[in-house]
Amino acid sequence: MRSNIIAGNWKMNNDKNKTKELIMSINEALQKKSNLRVIVAPSHVHLESAILLTKDSFIEVSAQNMHHKKSGAYTGEISALMLLSIGVKSVIIGHSERRAFFKEDDLLLTEKVKLALDNNMEVIFCLGEELEDRKKSNHFNIVSLQINNVLSKIDSSSLKKIIIAYEPVWAIGTGETATADQAQEMHLHIRRFISDKYGEDLAQSISIIYGGSVKPENASEIFSKADVDGGLIGGASLNFEDFLKISNSF
Ligand code: PEP
Repeated sequence: MRSNIIAGNWKMNNDKNKTKELIMSINEALQKKSNLRVIVAPSHVHLESAILLTKDSFIEVSAQNMHHKKSGAYTGEISALMLLSIGVKSVIIGHSERRAFFKEDDLLLTEKVKLALDNNMEVIFCLGEELEDRKKSNHFNIVSLQINNVLSKIDSSSLKKIIIAYEPVWAIGTGETATADQAQEMHLHIRRFISDKYGEDLAQSISIIYGGSVKPENASEIFSKADVDGGLIGGASLNFEDFLKISNSF
């Protein structure tokens, strides 16, 4: 059975104290539920302390990004091996902010995903259409391409280490959310796409989570859909009470 997942992407927010405070509040208040994984993704500088703070807890810690090369002269970058050396075992790759602001394309994302999987890391792989694509009813094609351009280059035996995060770009940080039905139809599309390419067993075992202005008010309706296995939460994950309510929406 695939897992439900709530992941908080803290982006470039929270200083050292705030990071600690947020993790400790989540640790204290959140009850472990069977089949629900809770992941937080603080900034790189706070990852090691997050790992230490969650040592005896079920809360997992993910990085928000990593470099696509193993090591070398890449000033300012962070490698998979560096993350692993402090105990980080998962990483978000392909977030729309990285695609848009840092011009990360499918070729580069493929290298990142490959490197992470080769190092036995779990990948939260983000994809999703822009508003223009949806207006032109091209959203299913765009998402199929985003999956295919990356996953077809990956050895299929590693794909079980991938969580897919469907994040329509028009819904990220905008307050605008896809309806639960829009999320469900895209998640089903993704699952069918994976089934056709790699078989039903893999398609049924991959968690597909939704991201885009999830808040306490809309979380349960979105998560009630058959193919929505949780959420990648941006803004609302910075507020402990909202994150708790969202996590308790299953
Ligand atoms: C995100 O950045 O992944 C995200 C879903 O952000 P928000 O929840 O703020 O829309």
